[in-house]
Amino acid sequence: MAPAPAPIPTPETREFWEGTARRELRIQRCTACGKHYFHPRPFCPDPTCASDAVEWTVVSGRARLSSYVINHRPLPMFEVTEPQIIAIVTLDEGPRMMTNLIGVDPDPELLVLNMPLEVDFVTRGEQWLPMFHPAVEEARR
Ligand SMILES: [Zn+2]
Repeated sequence: MAPAPAPIPTPETREFWEGTARRELRIQRCTACGKHYFHPRPFCPDPTCASDAVEWTVVSGRARLSSYVINHRPLPMFEVTEPQIIAIVTLDEGPRMMTNLIGVDPDPELLVLNMPLEVDFVTRGEQWLPMFHPAVEEARR
């Protein structure tokens, strides 16, 4: 299933979308147990913690490819006709995120699991969506 093309901010996600509009990837972190998490919610998702002492943080935007599908259905309302790579990436900070890969052909030979990725931001409707491209500084990681 594709991510929603132009999500509507809610009170819980407004900070996330304000971040992407500034080219920042913001997720939440629990200050009680120290874990980052996604999607946004007002309490820690770890059931052994469940603290409401949570804060928003700007994360590195670095991630690894965890899984993907190549979606050949076009999105004509956004004039997207090329195949889309819909991916699950694991942020360096820990949480997983559903996103799109860009800057790489939808060719399984180029899509190596665990490959390093970096965030980019692509406008779609009124929002800036975080998408990921292969890391350009892999040699330094
Ligand atoms: Zn916690």
